[in-house]
Amino acid sequence: MEIIRDIQSMRAWREAARPEHVGLVPTMGALHEGHLSLIRIARERAPKVVVSIYVNPTQFAAHEDLDHYPRTFEEDRRRCEELGVDAIFCPDDAMMYPPGCLTWVHVSQLDSALEGQSRPTHFRGVATIVTKLFAIVQPDCAVFGWKDAQQFLLLRRMVNDLNLPVEMIGAEIVREPDGLAMSSRNVYLSEDERREAPALQRALLLAEQIVKDQPGILATALKRRMEQSILSESRFRIDYIAIVNLETLQPLAHVEPGATLIALAAWMGQTRLIDNIRV
Ligand code: AMP
Repeated sequence: MEIIRDIQSMRAWREAARPEHVGLVPTMGALHEGHLSLIRIARERAPKVVVSIYVNPTQFAAHEDLDHYPRTFEEDRRRCEELGVDAIFCPDDAMMYPPGCLTWVHVSQLDSALEGQSRPTHFRGVATIVTKLFAIVQPDCAVFGWKDAQQFLLLRRMVNDLNLPVEMIGAEIVREPDGLAMSSRNVYLSEDERREAPALQRALLLAEQIVKDQPGILATALKRRMEQSILSESRFRIDYIAIVNLETLQPLAHVEPGATLIALAAWMGQTRLIDNIRV
């Protein structure tokens, strides 16, 4: 497995790999089973797999956790090696954002919904870095997790709109045995907080069941039931619960079976967690 730190070497590696197809798994490191599932999917889809590990500063707002974001490179490298990854691309900030960069990729509408409400510059950073990674690695396919559903939907839209020749693959959410969605940020939780954290998934499963029992239920009523469930079981402070169309991310009055995303974000102490379900 090669460790590639600069753009020129990454391009040279990609050229040497032709005509083989390359699958890319973009990550910010601190790899867990969720990331590993993406890597396994990429391996099934492409003979060569590149994992990028880069904590992208432009998707963090000034008050967010960029400086504290977990960095576990040696462990990440070992896990990639075990899974048969062909190359890790791990550039630094000077390589990715040299002085003078003026260009942003902005996906309108989709970037201001849900997460965009409390993180207004987040998706501009995500769309820009993923475009750059696609331009450097030139993958045939790329795997993203449904854990970050809005991110996947927005990037899929971007690839479509910009005619980028990359097949976008979504991977289902990998969870801890008690249902908490795996996240690099779970390490921030104290023992007590960690114990309460599965309340988020329980509310999503409750919503799924309610929709089965009462398909015509009003979104507002459904949200209220989810809120009650979370607040009665935990100390989460809810940022949002959203019931939206799976393509447009626009709010729905009623669940549209097969085309609805129920997404939420909530604070547990200093940690902000997100989760979602498609119904
Ligand atoms: P991150 O390192 O947080 O930027 O995540 C890199 C990729 O892994 C993104 O496509 C995430 O959606 C995906 N991912 C993170 N956690 C999970 C999970 N629990 N299940 C599936 N995919 C995940």
